[in-house]
Amino acid sequence: MGMFDSVYVDCPHCGKPVEFQSKEWDCQMDTWTLDDAPTQVLRDIMNWPNHCEKCDGWFALIDPYFPPGPPPRPALHAAMVKAPDNPDTHPQGMKWWPDDRDFSYNDLIASAVPSGDRT
Ligand SMILES: [Zn+2]
Repeated sequence: MGMFDSVYVDCPHCGKPVEFQSKEWDCQMDTWTLDDAPTQVLRDIMNWPNHCEKCDGWFALIDPYFPPGPPPRPALHAAMVKAPDNPDTHPQGMKWWPDDRDFSYNDLIASAVPSGDRT
């Protein structure tokens, strides 16, 4: 039998706990609720109907912010970024964003901050 982790959610039909299994974590047979499960596991179990053996009902874990189906295609555009203090460099002059530094909007040159407007 394969190893997995479990999230227990009360069935909205009968109120009994129903197990949702995920292999997206360490698969050490951990058990969680919707409140304490890792984000990665929640993403794995959402939008997939499960069956309640107690009452023969079906239910799915949904969030309108994450509708079913493939994620929407990002509408990317080029934004100017401030030079990092310690870029990784190559003798021939190439530079890379440092691996140990997360990029955030604080790194953008102010006038380039996107408005979030999708028109
Ligand atoms: Zn039920």
